[in-house]
Amino acid sequence: MNEKTDYDVAIIGGGAAGLSAAVSLARSLRSVIVVDGGEPRNAIAAGAHNVLGNEGIAPRDLLAAGRREAQAYGAEFRDGEASAARRTDGGFAIDLRGGDTISARRILLATGLIDELPNVPGVRDFWGKSVLHCPYCHGWEVRGQRIGVLGTGPAGIHQALLFRQLSDDVTLFRHTMPQIDADDAAKLSAIGVRVVDGPVERLSGHGESVQSVAMTDGREFPVDAVVVAPRFVARSELYVQLGGTVSDNPMGEYVEAGQMGRTEVPGVWAAGNVSSLGAVVTLASGAGMSAAGVINMDLIEEDAEAAVLSRAS
Ligand SMILES: Cc1cc2nc3c(=O)[nH]c(=O)nc-3n(C[C@H](O)[C@H](O)[C@H](O)COP(=O)(O)OP(=O)(O)OC[C@H]3O[C@@H](n4cnc5c(N)ncnc54)[C@H](O)[C@@H]3O)c2cc1C
Repeated sequence: MNEKTDYDVAIIGGGAAGLSAAVSLARSLRSVIVVDGGEPRNAIAAGAHNVLGNEGIAPRDLLAAGRREAQAYGAEFRDGEASAARRTDGGFAIDLRGGDTISARRILLATGLIDELPNVPGVRDFWGKSVLHCPYCHGWEVRGQRIGVLGTGPAGIHQALLFRQLSDDVTLFRHTMPQIDADDAAKLSAIGVRVVDGPVERLSGHGESVQSVAMTDGREFPVDAVVVAPRFVARSELYVQLGGTVSDNPMGEYVEAGQMGRTEVPGVWAAGNVSSLGAVVTLASGAGMSAAGVINMDLIEEDAEAAVLSRAS
């Protein structure tokens, strides 16, 4: 006999992915708890863009609205981190920082990721304001401005090409990038991207505005924005505790999940940035909704099988 659990589904993480899943599961009359540490990745940004119907909304306002919507259908919330998770007879036990333990039949990990920023002084000071990574998130806001790309890997070429679409004043600082091959060099030169060799010493500026890139050889270049390529590291601690393995790709580390969020650990799903490093808000939200649908069906199947067994006995 399986232990009784407190909830059908525990969603760890109350960002776009977790909240969309919570709304969908609660609307399917599932008992749902969302445990949320309250640190969505884009909280530092002034607005979330490319969010249809909510263009430019403050990230925390979007999530507050999502939380209200989920609560209206009966989803419960616990603020704070889930510190540990383990399998039990009836599903999973999840320890919350602060002492409580909750139990659920299924887990959806929607814990997002950490942006590991290049280790150059000044990058962190302007991150999310005038030090950027994503042309679709804040590219329009810096259109036509003097944009520097801080090269730390092959992605520097890609970013220089992308941001050149938004400004005719783009400089690629090679910094720690590998040598640029002849084809890429020809492309950058033909579309007017300047390339500066040599290590960058620091970014300087005032308030939220980066204003210059200083090289170790003393040269200084004025800029209005700097593009960086963070290493994306999924928040996967709970997944590892549950027996999952973390995967690598050139962008960083992630939890491997199928299209509908199913992971290699039975009963554990993943959605949003934790399993899709490049997902923006609407994609994270869609992934949460997809996973919710499959989790609901999984529970329906389990209950139907149990009903058949119970009738036969
Ligand atoms: C600076 C910046 C600007 C961006 N701008 C845009 C934009 O304009 N438009 C756009 O579409 N996308 C933008 N993005 C991307 C956007 O942030 C992500 O697509 C989105 O946040 C992914 O949602 P998520 O639910 O997967 O993760 P998150 O939003 O990061 O939410 C994860 C949640 O899980 C919680 N959590 C993690 N671990 C635990 C735990 N153990 N226990 C409890 N809770 C936990 C966290 O505290 C957090 O609240 C931007 C990203 C950055 C870095």
